[in-house]
Amino acid sequence: MTSIHTERRVSLSEIEALARDVLLARGVSFAQADAVARNVTAAEADECRSHGVYRLIGYVRAVVSGKADGRAVPSMTQVSPAIIRVDAGRGFAPLANEIARPALVAAAQSLGIAVLAINNCYHNSAMWVDLEPLADAGLVSIGMTAGQCTVAPHGGSKPVFGTNPFAFGWPRPDGAPFVFDFATSAAARGEIELHQRAGKSIPLGWAVDAEGRPTTDPAVGLAGAMLPFGGHKGTALALMIELLAGPMIGDLTSQESFAEDEGMGSPPLGGELIIAFDPVRFLGDDFAGHMARAETLFSSISGQDGVRLPGDRRLEARAQSVQNGVLVPARLLEELELLRAGGGGRG
Ligand code: NDP
Repeated sequence: MTSIHTERRVSLSEIEALARDVLLARGVSFAQADAVARNVTAAEADECRSHGVYRLIGYVRAVVSGKADGRAVPSMTQVSPAIIRVDAGRGFAPLANEIARPALVAAAQSLGIAVLAINNCYHNSAMWVDLEPLADAGLVSIGMTAGQCTVAPHGGSKPVFGTNPFAFGWPRPDGAPFVFDFATSAAARGEIELHQRAGKSIPLGWAVDAEGRPTTDPAVGLAGAMLPFGGHKGTALALMIELLAGPMIGDLTSQESFAEDEGMGSPPLGGELIIAFDPVRFLGDDFAGHMARAETLFSSISGQDGVRLPGDRRLEARAQSVQNGVLVPARLLEELELLRAGGGGRG
């Protein structure tokens, strides 16, 4: 039997084909499967494994259980010149994002600022994947999404928030954009699940047991509550994200999303909010000068020994992955091959 520590090297094109096939084998439409496959491949390429092919297991579960609509066709509405809304129809987030992106870019370039609200979609995945193309189009952006309640507020032990990620993108004149992206929990839930699969303990501070006691056991932490990063400050950010990506855009809170799942173990159903700014519209003729000042700021950070910019690790991983492919746990690959062949995938 394959050890839980054995890994196999796989090319990015193999990863993408595997991801697409796994979903197609469950009746997911080509458009949905293709967009998800690109999304999880991007995550694998940047060594963001908590949002890579491992996520396909949950996506298959959501389709087989009937919770997610794998054949959904997202429908876009221009609510006002600055507000674009997409109803993902309980389909997956990547296709909704890809369909709405040109309208968001056009609105931000025309008005200086525009907002995209994606509703009713399954799992917004790694947020940088959604913001990087906006930065490539010259836009500054912030993005956020709620999840399913797994994170207790600072000082508490009952889950209220999702792991509620927050991301920021900034275009740079000579090179890859600056994009940071983090869960407002101490760690992404997928990271704890991957520790559990690998038989590893988790660091103290990531989770507590059901009585609120600190734990290093991933299974106990998953059954108890995850913790926010930064104590009361992370808690406040998580709450802001709940409000902006939930009630403000007419979508579910993390508690509502959890209840909606009825214990099926699907990824979160809910909303995503992206705000895009066009610095050209803000700055006019002064654009280049002010962007150069931003570059000075970046240099004063990355110029220090032992300091790197958020996103640098991802970009280095991407360059390596394009050349050499990525390492994937052999057991996970076996599981995915089974799904590709039409087996496995409990409902
Ligand atoms: P990490 O803690 O791994 O990284 C957070 C950010 O900090 C990244 O931009 C990272 O850059 C940067 N960073 C990490 N270490 C350093 C360092 N030493 N110096 C400077 N910058 C650093 O991310 P999380 O575990 O919080 O989240 C992982 C992913 O999971 C994210 O993409 C997030 O969107 C996603 N997520 C999605 C959820 C959902 O429901 N859709 C829920 C929760 C998380 P780099 O990447 O280059 O290391």
